[in-house]
Amino acid sequence: MTDLPDFNAMTDADFRALARDFVETNYPDIPRYTLGRLHWDEVKPWYLVLSEHGWICPTWPREHGGMGLTAGKHLILIEEFERYGAARVNDIGPVMLGPLLLKYGTEAQKAEFLPKILSGEHVWAQGYSEPGAGSDLAAVRCEAVLEGGDWVINGQKTWCTLGMDANWIFILARTDKTVKKQAGISFLLVPMDAPGVTTRNIENLEREAEFCEVFFDDVRVPADHIVGGVNEGWTAAKALLGHERVFIGAPRLSAAAMTRLKRIALRAGVWHDPVFRDRYVALQCDVADLGDLFETYVDKLRGGQTIGADVAMLKIFQSELYQRISELMMEVAGEEAGLAQAPEGDRQLHAAATWLSARPTTIFGGSTEIMRNMLAKAILELPS
Ligand SMILES: Cc1cc2nc3c(=O)[nH]c(=O)nc-3n(C[C@H](O)[C@H](O)[C@H](O)COP(=O)(O)OP(=O)(O)OC[C@H]3O[C@@H](n4cnc5c(N)ncnc54)[C@H](O)[C@@H]3O)c2cc1C
Repeated sequence: MTDLPDFNAMTDADFRALARDFVETNYPDIPRYTLGRLHWDEVKPWYLVLSEHGWICPTWPREHGGMGLTAGKHLILIEEFERYGAARVNDIGPVMLGPLLLKYGTEAQKAEFLPKILSGEHVWAQGYSEPGAGSDLAAVRCEAVLEGGDWVINGQKTWCTLGMDANWIFILARTDKTVKKQAGISFLLVPMDAPGVTTRNIENLEREAEFCEVFFDDVRVPADHIVGGVNEGWTAAKALLGHERVFIGAPRLSAAAMTRLKRIALRAGVWHDPVFRDRYVALQCDVADLGDLFETYVDKLRGGQTIGADVAMLKIFQSELYQRISELMMEVAGEEAGLAQAPEGDRQLHAAATWLSARPTTIFGGSTEIMRNMLAKAILELPS
C-alpha cells in the first residue's frame, strides 16, 4: 500500500480531480455501468486495485488502513466512481463489518479481521434474515450452543447477498431461549468452509443468482468468534442496521439512474419536451436533497454519533426516489420498456433492468412499511 496524502486538507475541486484521475487510470478491464452486482471473480481486480492503493475503505480511520475521509470528500469519491461507471465491489466487509468491529470488536478481533478485509483475503456475507425472521429480525431461530470451548451452530439463513462468493459470514444466532427475544441473541463470525456449512443459490428478478440460503449443521467455531459479548448481539445488530441504512441511503443509485433517464429520453425524442423536463428537474432536485440528507448522516457516523431511528427517512427517501426515477424511465421508453434484452445491447438504455433493480430497494435493509412504523413510533410518537 502506498503512503496516502491528507485528502481532507485538499480543496474539494482538487480531491475531485484526484478521484477522477484515480478511477480513470486504475480501473481494470472489467465491466462498467453494470446495473446488477458483479460476482467476486469479476470484480476482484477492482477490489485489489483499491486495496493496493489504500482506497478500499474510504470511511475507516487512517490508523486502521482507511482513507479517513470526511462525509463531503466521501460523497465526491462516490460521485466520481459513479460517473465513470465503476462496478460496486463486494462491500459487506468494508461497509458493514469493519465499522462494527471498530466499535464492538476486541483488539484481537480487529487485528485478525480488519487487515483481511482490507486485502480482500476475507470476503464477507451478512447472515441476519431467516425464513420467519426478516422484518421481525429478533425472531431468529438459528441457534448457537457453547460446547467444549466452541459455539456449535444449527439453523438457516436466507437472502444472503452474494453469499456464494463469500468465505466468511457474520450471523445473528440465538444463544439464550429463556429471556426476552432481543436479549438472547449473539453476533458470531463463521468461516464458510467450516464443516457443516452448505449454500443454495436464489435467483433475483432478472434470473441471476444474486443471493443464497446458508445452512448450518453442527458447525463449530471457536468461543472467541463472538462480537460484543454473549447475548449482546442485538445491540451490535441494530448498530449495523443503522450503518447499513446510511449507506443504502447514498444518492449514487438515483444519480446514476438520472443519467440513464436522460439517455433514454434523448433516444425517445422527449428530452426537450417541457412536460418531461418539468418532471426530470423535479427528480433532479430530489436527488440533490437526498445528497444533502445523506451527507448529514455520514457526518454523524464520522463523528462517532449513534444513528437513531430517524435514519429510516433516508432509507425511505432513497428507495422510493429510485423507484420513481425507474417508473418515469419505463414511461419514456415506450415500447422499448417491455424488452427482455437491452436495446442495441446497451444496458444503460434498458429501462426494464433499472425498474427491476429498483423493486427490492424498498425491501432490503428494512422494508418501507417497517421504516414508516419506526418513524411513526420513535419520531412522531404516534401510538403503536
Ligand atoms: C435485494 C435484497 C438483498 C438482501 N440481502 C440480505 C443479506 O445480505 N443478508 C440478510 O440477512 N438479509 C438480506 N435481505 C433480506 C431482507 O433484510 C429482508 O427481506 C427484509 O428484512 C424483509 O424480510 P422478509 O423478506 O422476511 O419479509 P417479511 O418480514 O415477511 O415482510 C413481508 C411484507 O410484510 C410487511 N410487514 C412485515 N411486518 C410488518 C409490520 N409489523 N407492519 C407493517 N408491515 C409489515 C413488510 O413490509 C413486507 O412488505 C435482502 C433482501 C433483499 C430484497
